[in-house]
Amino acid sequence: MLALTEQALLKTTSYINGQWLASKAGVFQVVNPASGEVLATVSEAGETEAVFAVEAAAAAQPAWAALPAAERAAILLRWQQLLQQHEADLALLLTLEQGKPLVEARAEIRYGAAYLSWFAEEAKRLYGDIIPPAAPDKQILVLRQPLGVVTAITPWNFPNAMLMRKAAAALAAGCSFVVKPAAQTPLSALACAELAQRAGVPAGIFNVLVGTAAQQLGEVLTRHPLVNKFSFTGSTAVGKQLLKQCADGVKRVSMELGGNAPFIVFASADLDAAAEGLIAAKFRNAGQTCVCANRVLVDECILEQFLQILLPKVRALQVGAGTDPNVTIGPLIEAKAVAKVQQLLDDALQHGAQLRLGGNPHPAGALFFEPTVLTGVTPQMQLFQQEIFGPLLAITSFSTEQQAIALANATDYGLAGYFYSQQLGQVFRVAQALEFGMLGINDGIISNAAAPFGGVKQSGYGREGSKYGLDDYTYLKYLALGGL
Ligand code: ADP
Repeated sequence: MLALTEQALLKTTSYINGQWLASKAGVFQVVNPASGEVLATVSEAGETEAVFAVEAAAAAQPAWAALPAAERAAILLRWQQLLQQHEADLALLLTLEQGKPLVEARAEIRYGAAYLSWFAEEAKRLYGDIIPPAAPDKQILVLRQPLGVVTAITPWNFPNAMLMRKAAAALAAGCSFVVKPAAQTPLSALACAELAQRAGVPAGIFNVLVGTAAQQLGEVLTRHPLVNKFSFTGSTAVGKQLLKQCADGVKRVSMELGGNAPFIVFASADLDAAAEGLIAAKFRNAGQTCVCANRVLVDECILEQFLQILLPKVRALQVGAGTDPNVTIGPLIEAKAVAKVQQLLDDALQHGAQLRLGGNPHPAGALFFEPTVLTGVTPQMQLFQQEIFGPLLAITSFSTEQQAIALANATDYGLAGYFYSQQLGQVFRVAQALEFGMLGINDGIISNAAAPFGGVKQSGYGREGSKYGLDDYTYLKYLALGGL
């Protein structure tokens, strides 16, 4: 028994067509990364369940799309209120299966819920267009139509918010939705399904498939002929594979893939604010976000001064289980993640980086790593090229603005970037020159339901949230009226 106020939020089977369905494919365990303790034993969904979910979503979708937008919006708002009411339980489940500190988990639940209220409002503004015709007896109308059945695969680092920002947009647009959450964190997604049911989301409109057979489930979600659109958040490597699968059926696709965010501190920056922003952008979720600062670029003339402000802040971070209210850095998700951080650190040290702080596994448990700071990082080191996804802060110094921009753009990724500067001209020049979908300018926390989230280059395409977010779930239908 987990210490939830309401045990009914702990679900252990897939939710398909409005029903909780145990499958015959076996079970898997959900483990607390902080302690190794088994939290729940969950029924495995396989191909049969995936096909059933897609078919149920296809059958239910036309009636959902036919509802007036205001009625869909009312249901989404009820769902949002239920998430809000159950914030404490949802946050606890999230922390237990994912590891992040409770305060971050609570913020994530609010962030996830914010997509529901945002898109409930946007659903009412799915305006079309009337275009001046080319001939007097004609009229040109443009309607925005729901794509139909949307499938999605979501990651473990934001088990609630990555799911809700896709589902809220899809449902608001009049689509139905089938999601496979990451196998490490299925409980948060299943709790969302329980609340969807209570909010009155009709059977078949929101379906959650939980299982470890990612490839097998992914085949159905990307290839089934009834699927109209596929939305993915995860690594670039897996995203490329799933894109190929979608290409065969020419599915509409949104891809929110890996990042390699630069965080530039110019000499004109407010160094206290920059250090504060960097702590947030680097160490949130123990460094496991796709918008985490990955390459910290600091003007060499202020480097030592900046370190004097930064290092005490890093030292003050508290490592431990996310359920402890004093903790600010939880465990990494699994042993592979710890090994990767260690390997990137070793590679950097071998190639001449200097260790300023940390550098070791943390005694709190097998999946904990000390917040670590390196200087002297160069583009040849692996951690400059790859997503670190851990509490390892890697600093490279530069001497000119042009050099900082060139270093920042020297990556295949283009999700988020950050820079701190107090010079107006520099702010504009650098904002124009950086090749990223999102820029935090004197700001280390950029995620917001009202803003368009997404990347360029190998970080993917599509935008989630904001007034643009429904575009990914609709298509334009042009009506040529003649003989008027
Ligand atoms: P991360 O590094 O965040 O785990 P992944 O891309 O490995 O990123 O995982 C993101 C999501 O993609 C998870 O839900 C995972 O189960 C799923 N996934 C991983 N490999 C595949 C695959 N070959 N086919 C379909 N889904 C996959």
